[in-house]
Amino acid sequence: MSRRIIPVADARSLPPRLAADAVRAPTGEVFDALARPLRDLRISVTDRCNFRCVYCMPRAVFDKDYPFLPHSALLSLEEIERLARLFVAQGVTKIRLTGGEPLLRKNLEFLIERLAALRTVDGTPLDLTLTTNGSLLARKARALRDAGLTRVTVSLDALDDTLFRRMNDADFSVADVLGGIEAAQAVGLAPIKVNMVVKHGTNDSEIVPLARHFRGTGVTLRFIEYMDVGATNGWNMAEVLPSADVVARIAEHFALVPLDAHSAAETAQRWGYADGAGEIGTISSVTRAFCGDCTRARLSTEGKLYLCLFASMGYDLRALLRGDATDAGIASAIAQVWQQRGDRYSQLRGSADAPAASEERRIEMSYIGG
Ligand code: SAM
Ligand code: SF4
Ligand code: SF4
Repeated sequence: MSRRIIPVADARSLPPRLAADAVRAPTGEVFDALARPLRDLRISVTDRCNFRCVYCMPRAVFDKDYPFLPHSALLSLEEIERLARLFVAQGVTKIRLTGGEPLLRKNLEFLIERLAALRTVDGTPLDLTLTTNGSLLARKARALRDAGLTRVTVSLDALDDTLFRRMNDADFSVADVLGGIEAAQAVGLAPIKVNMVVKHGTNDSEIVPLARHFRGTGVTLRFIEYMDVGATNGWNMAEVLPSADVVARIAEHFALVPLDAHSAAETAQRWGYADGAGEIGTISSVTRAFCGDCTRARLSTEGKLYLCLFASMGYDLRALLRGDATDAGIASAIAQVWQQRGDRYSQLRGSADAPAASEERRIEMSYIGG
């Protein structure tokens, strides 16, 4: 896999060299070329994972010879904190830690402690969360909560153990993940969300069992359309089950009512059980693009800033961190990059205007996080 990386200083029409000391740090909100503010930051803390989900890290590609990042390439936890602080100063209110599997990163609790201490431009604590496959959650839930994590999202694609093991392709059991979810509930990491990627013909038989399982538990189950992210999962449209079909299948068993979104930038459409037993969500990245409200920036494990999940180019913030750039210089670089952002891949998917990014250049989900 090739990852195309643009040094921030000569990216697109940025000034050839950032005179870091001469620029004033922008404060407050920054908007992109489509008037979308920068509100969410997803930080990938590792590109490694103990699962080999067939739709994300197929074992045939992510094998023992796969060139995962060397330790020296990773941002240190202190470097991540520094960047996070600069993003927050420009309007970010929500940070999600992801990966790879974020719970594999050593001393993650230290980073969480530091991030939990940050305050938004309005002076409020961040909405700080983490997405995990749940396999290490039973062991780590309390330490994560004590460090300041407030909630967690757990991925689970099936209740059927044989099918789940086949999908994660690493012999983890459903019980491992359910144990993690219970531990997270027990220590008060709430509200818990569970994400199921629906692959038509693979695990769509699990939609109703999972809905039944989490109904009435306070856990919000969310169904994600299988996406054409990366270049290794052999995606094809026939394997996408539209969210409308997911909702119809559940509604055959439990009456559902549509609920209002919490905010414009919310990726999920919400549905409530008519009998009050909680809610589900659908994330229709393929059939109902939500680029118009996309306020998400992504920071890779090695410190590249990506403006879209489907981007093929990242901006090298690590070079600035490890050079002599001041906070003001880095903040200014982030703002300049964001102000030029026009990405809206899902909206353009399949249209004549779709970017001609060749598939092999697209970043992998395990590299940038969900
Ligand atoms: N390892 C953690 C986990 O699985 O929760 C965090 C990283 S994972 C890349 C983040 C999310 O992306 C997971 O919920 C995963 O199911 C989802 N995901 C990965 N590949 C996907 C794809 N091709 N389409 C839709 N969702 C995908
Ligand atoms: Fe690992 Fe998450 Fe990708 Fe599965 S979806 S392979 S758990 S990073
Ligand atoms: Fe945001 Fe890109 Fe996804 Fe559109 S395709 S919602 S711009 S990440």
